[in-house]
Amino acid sequence: MERTPIVMCKTDLDNLDIYVKRDDLLPFSFGGNKARIAQEFYSDMDIKGKNCMIGYGNARSNLSRALANVNSYRGGVCHIISPADDDGSRIVTNNSYMVHACGAHFHECEKQKVAEAVESVIQECELNGMKPYYIYGDKFGHGNEAVPVRAYEKVYREILEQEEQMGIRFDYIFLPTGTGMTQSGLLAGKLIARRSNQKVIGISVARKSEQEIEVIKNYLDAFSLENQILIEEYPEICVEDDYLSGGYGKYSDGIKDTIRSMFVCNGIPLDSTYTGKGFYGMLEYLKKNGIKNANILFIHTGGTPLFFDNIHLLEQGK
Ligand SMILES: *Cc1c(COP(=O)(O)O)cnc(C)c1O
Repeated sequence: MERTPIVMCKTDLDNLDIYVKRDDLLPFSFGGNKARIAQEFYSDMDIKGKNCMIGYGNARSNLSRALANVNSYRGGVCHIISPADDDGSRIVTNNSYMVHACGAHFHECEKQKVAEAVESVIQECELNGMKPYYIYGDKFGHGNEAVPVRAYEKVYREILEQEEQMGIRFDYIFLPTGTGMTQSGLLAGKLIARRSNQKVIGISVARKSEQEIEVIKNYLDAFSLENQILIEEYPEICVEDDYLSGGYGKYSDGIKDTIRSMFVCNGIPLDSTYTGKGFYGMLEYLKKNGIKNANILFIHTGGTPLFFDNIHLLEQGK
């Protein structure tokens, strides 16, 4: 994976230099954290001698799209198991169109019956003589936690090199946090680099902080076990749940205004589910905590197809 640029951006906060790492500009499938994480899953599938990818994600999922797209250019078989929204409805998105276009086998499932759905797809693959690989490990979603963490442990190293090159030090790294895979990777990198004077702050897009922190701990433990890293001192796990705006996929006027002004003033697309919520939450956090004279890095985790799903958010006063 090549390096992605870090650019400075204009906001209405004085005394703060806010930079954005444009991981949305990775040169494959609209980039983003899921393009990197999908690559890690495929590498692991190859290492384990499996040949049939099974992913899981809802209609908005950038991971499902990245998994389906990597598969379509490799020329293999990919299954996507997809739950309906919490209210039982199903939507069509830019990402779900691309999953279908890439020829992935699509399986609808109920959110309460994921294990059964995973098991039945695994059996179907085996009956067809394939060796299935489920991204999250066993049918209950356990056992593969170390793999996705690798992606952003590498990115952390990339950021260290870029700091060196730019002659600056980031005091804070912010990002939108969902499953916790990305934040765990950054924290693993920080742990290895023994960088104590820096905060990595996840703006939660779905879960309450306590719940998210547990999940991240679990990822970190799996990664350090795999890499035989002795954790002398646990990195502080910071997850902010003040900006959930009603839950996953929901957004507020503040998020909408942030998306519009980031596009108008910086030419940077953000979406209302992840990056717009994360960027808005970061600005609010910085204001609330009176943070001044600091270098701030926001990780643009991608999701550009979602920006176009909600392009009407750019309309003034809507
Ligand atoms: C999945 C996703 C996130 C959240 O990353 P996690 O590793 O799941 O915490 C953030 N931004 C975008 C665009 C995503 O697709």
